[in-house]
Amino acid sequence: MKRYSVFAIAREAMRYHTGWGRAWRKPEPKRRYQVVIVGAGGHGLATAYYLGKNFGITDVAILEKGWLGGGNTGRNTTIIRSNYLQDPSAAIYEKARSLYEGLSQDLNYNVMFSPRGVMMLAQTERELRGYQRTVHANRLQGIETEMIGPREVKRLCPIMNVDGPRYPVLGALWQARGGTARHDAVAWGYARACSDMGMDIIQTCEVTAVRSEGGKVQGVTTTKGEIDCDKLGIVVAGHSGVMAEKAGFRLPIESVALQALVSEPIKPCMDVVVMANTVHGYMSQSDKGEMVIGGGTDGFVNYAQRGSFQHIEETVRALTETFPMISRLKMLRQWGGIVDVTGDRSPILSKTPLGNCYLNCGWGTGGFKAIPGSGWSFAELMAKGHSPLTAEFGLDRFREGRFIDESVAAGVAH
Ligand SMILES: Cc1cc2nc3c(=O)[nH]c(=O)nc-3n(C[C@H](O)[C@H](O)[C@H](O)COP(=O)(O)OP(=O)(O)OC[C@H]3O[C@@H](n4cnc5c(N)ncnc54)[C@H](O)[C@@H]3O)c2cc1C
Repeated sequence: MKRYSVFAIAREAMRYHTGWGRAWRKPEPKRRYQVVIVGAGGHGLATAYYLGKNFGITDVAILEKGWLGGGNTGRNTTIIRSNYLQDPSAAIYEKARSLYEGLSQDLNYNVMFSPRGVMMLAQTERELRGYQRTVHANRLQGIETEMIGPREVKRLCPIMNVDGPRYPVLGALWQARGGTARHDAVAWGYARACSDMGMDIIQTCEVTAVRSEGGKVQGVTTTKGEIDCDKLGIVVAGHSGVMAEKAGFRLPIESVALQALVSEPIKPCMDVVVMANTVHGYMSQSDKGEMVIGGGTDGFVNYAQRGSFQHIEETVRALTETFPMISRLKMLRQWGGIVDVTGDRSPILSKTPLGNCYLNCGWGTGGFKAIPGSGWSFAELMAKGHSPLTAEFGLDRFREGRFIDESVAAGVAH
């Protein structure tokens, strides 16, 4: 793989950009791999990358039924933060956030990480108390967050109306090193690095069955033939329940569509990310100038990967009191992704009833921010059978009642 650098750009500029190679190879599947990962979203690709980088395991295939990054990884609103309440969540999300800081250099691929700051508005007394509690928890966890008042909110985000008649802004939970990254670039950067290590990313290759014998996975049946493996990682987000059924076990997961929309591009007017959980909506401005607006989940279980009209209406209506300017914006497009939601709103990174089969799912509405940390720790779990960062996120917690309740931090659309 050619390294991307200022010199490479200059060299290619001199020869009309004819020398760039493909970012990743397009291999046919082999009959057997040491590790097979199902799902080439951010979490699957990051897992493969850290298996190679941290444990030297490169005989890996990543199987994707569509195109890489075409699931939720390419459909989210890219918010990155780690201000979670419970210790296990704060640890894994902060690991991810800190890896994001150096990810472009690590992957030699610009993922456009922009630590522009994330504020979560407190618009009721109850919310204010909840966020104050989170700030105290974050302080104990070593995560830098603070409460800011309405005046500071207005200074950081002048387009906001902090004196709304129904929901005035009482303060905000502020994480200065939170922000956004370019979602496609995260998938593409990991994919390029995996391919460079000799791993096979096989697109349009759906896993249709999991073959097992004596409590161990032998391999998978795919639309491109049979593939055997020593270890299997299932990382398919909204399709986790479907895949688990193929492997012969059930998951405490609901899959629902989560929607988002963007406006027409406008001049830069907002350089922070704002989440308004009481009215339910969140917004940032992309580098192209579009206002990126997150909506809610559908109120029923479904696999519909598309937007719907009432979500635009509900979301925009909810945000107009706090952001009066959006009432004058045209909306450009909307979409949906299928998110995998657990009862305690925390992920599952776990061994499964099948000895050599591992599961990474349940990131629900908020897993983009976790991609590097999830990949890092899930790779460790797959390679060594144990990872300190995943220890609390096992499937057994649902049987044993050890929930990691993040409904306050993650109950909103991520
Ligand atoms: C509208 C929206 C907004 C969001 N906003 C945010 C946000 O601002 N911040 C945040 O942190 N998170 C956000 N999220 C959540 C985040 O996008 C997800 O948690 C994260 O992308 C999940 O990544 P993944 O790699 O697990 O899943 P995916 O990217 O969905 O990848 C799973 C892959 O598995 C493949 N697959 C499924 N079944 C099979 C099969 N049988 N065989 C082969 N391949 C298969 C799929 O095609 C898919 O590509 C949002 C999600 C949505 C939908």
